[in-house]
Amino acid sequence: MNYKKQILITGGAGFIGSHVVRLFVNKYPDYHILNLDKLTYAGNLKNLVDLEDRPNYSFLKGDLVDQNFITEIFQQYQFDGIIHLAAESHVDRSIKNPMDFIQTNIIGTVNLLNAARNQWDQDFEGKKFYHISTDEVFGSLDSGGFFTETTSYDPQSPYSASKASSDHFVRAYQNTYGLPVILTNCSNNYGPYQFPEKLIPLFINNIIHKKPLPVYGKGENIRDWLFVIDHAEAIDLVYHKGMLNDTYNIGGFNEWKNIDLIKLMCGIMDQKLGRSKGESEQLITYVKDRAGHDLRYAIDASKIMKELGWKPSVTFEQGLEKTIDWYLDRQDWFDDLSMNPNPC
Ligand code: NAD
Repeated sequence: MNYKKQILITGGAGFIGSHVVRLFVNKYPDYHILNLDKLTYAGNLKNLVDLEDRPNYSFLKGDLVDQNFITEIFQQYQFDGIIHLAAESHVDRSIKNPMDFIQTNIIGTVNLLNAARNQWDQDFEGKKFYHISTDEVFGSLDSGGFFTETTSYDPQSPYSASKASSDHFVRAYQNTYGLPVILTNCSNNYGPYQFPEKLIPLFINNIIHKKPLPVYGKGENIRDWLFVIDHAEAIDLVYHKGMLNDTYNIGGFNEWKNIDLIKLMCGIMDQKLGRSKGESEQLITYVKDRAGHDLRYAIDASKIMKELGWKPSVTFEQGLEKTIDWYLDRQDWFDDLSMNPNPC
């Protein structure tokens, strides 16, 4: 079949990537979606079993850091668009081993930029390089204000520094070579298929198994949470309607102190698991704070809301309940992960 567009999605076997791949494969049968992923500990093809037989979907295992491999892929396929999500994404791992983050997040992104630039060779009509980034590049807020698209970068962890660097390279390739790019910076995501090293799935799993809930410091850190399917919808909208060479912040205007979020999860799960009120809260244990732990992130998402008409489809309570129900239903998914040699 002759497809209208050939789109490369990197990191499509990961948490957010799998939702983006699913949305694009289902919504655009006339696009061919190529999912390129290294399948690190965070990548899992079980996240995409429902798409395996789709004619407009293909998977390719490979490493963005491997320049020869990327060159070969770009010789084999002509891409109209690239949606780049592949990354090392966990702050704690970046503190233990920053080099993996520098390799994948910086070198991997630059390899991809070079390949796009070579392939498109100044013929940029209909082409787009969409880079997915994080609000963590802006650093930490105190109790007031929001990150806007013009907030200066001030990354504080090796993870956010590597993402900030990749954002700068994407903008530099636009400025220097005219590459057509779009960037988005999103707040913390939650939802199905998130690897249980991140707060929400880790704590759901620990509550199910009555294991301790390790809270950094006093649990005072504040994060702005967005349901992953709302992020995927925003990515679709920005890819198709966003202004080229522009940036959009994505977030839910949904700030939660970690300790309040954890208590909310404990309450919902006590009810769902038929436990007495307050039982799961007793699992909370306070542990030494993360080095350089940013106090507060909060995104001002008014630009994407006003200009593109995007808004989250669920409230936090609805999204969290859907998420908890999914993990309770999918113990098989958790169990498969415990086979992984490298769980956090
Ligand atoms: P994830 O860790 O769940 O998935 C990352 C995927 O990238 C995995 O499938 C992994 O196998 C793949 N990958 C890693 N290194 C690779 C390499 N060298 N070559 C090819 N593939 C490689 O991450 P996520 O949470 O889904 O995040 C996706 C993107 O969104 C990242 O760029 C992240 O910075 C950004 N982001 C995440 C959040 C969040 O809350 N999770 C928020 C904002 C932005």
